[in-house]
Amino acid sequence: MTGPSLLIVEDEEPARHALAEYLERRGYEVHQADTAQEAIRQWDAHRADAVLLDLGLPDLDGVDVIRRIRREAVTPIIILSARGDERDKISGLEAGADDYLTKPFALDELNARIRAVLRRASGASADAAGCLRLGPIELDAVRHEVRVAGELVRLTPREFELLKVMLANQGRVLTRARLLRAVWGLAYADESSYLHVYVNRLRRKLSAALPADNAASLAELIETEPGIGYRIADHESLPFR
Ligand code: CA
Repeated sequence: MTGPSLLIVEDEEPARHALAEYLERRGYEVHQADTAQEAIRQWDAHRADAVLLDLGLPDLDGVDVIRRIRREAVTPIIILSARGDERDKISGLEAGADDYLTKPFALDELNARIRAVLRRASGASADAAGCLRLGPIELDAVRHEVRVAGELVRLTPREFELLKVMLANQGRVLTRARLLRAVWGLAYADESSYLHVYVNRLRRKLSAALPADNAASLAELIETEPGIGYRIADHESLPFR
């Protein structure tokens, strides 16, 4: 029996083979492509459970591959990107990718990220009553209440919306523009400093409800990705339980 299937899109052959070999040993069924055209062909043929995508491909832009997949499916996509390609990573995340890794990366880290996006894809962040949970945080979208370790935390409507978007995207990287658009609307997409202030206020309010040792690790729930946005933890990757 094979595990989840992966599509690796990478034009550098040694790198692609090393990834494929490592992931096959971890029990994944692996498909490979070395161009964007081949990636789309493989995607159409196999509908992999997750896609690992190098953005610098010889024929089309890797972002075109993301758009093509997103027209049809919410399949997790992890960008494999060269150092310094911040703009590319942001366009990839904006086009719907879930996460990114900067080359060179540790294979164990890749495996952890794949597991996180596969968990996210299997759903289950909101329960039947519409509550979103992450570690000690519980957001009740119906009652408009947030509790941390059972204690009610007072948030402004914007802070509440921001936390809601974050909790609904556990295990993903959210760009600043995406968060700004989701919470404040299109006109605010460039107001990064604005977002920074709100995120810090949110972290402060949430951690105030926790004992000091747990409060420190709360920062890891909403991790800053410099130049990109924020990474939201998920249940499995939480520093505390
Ligand atoms: Ca490349």
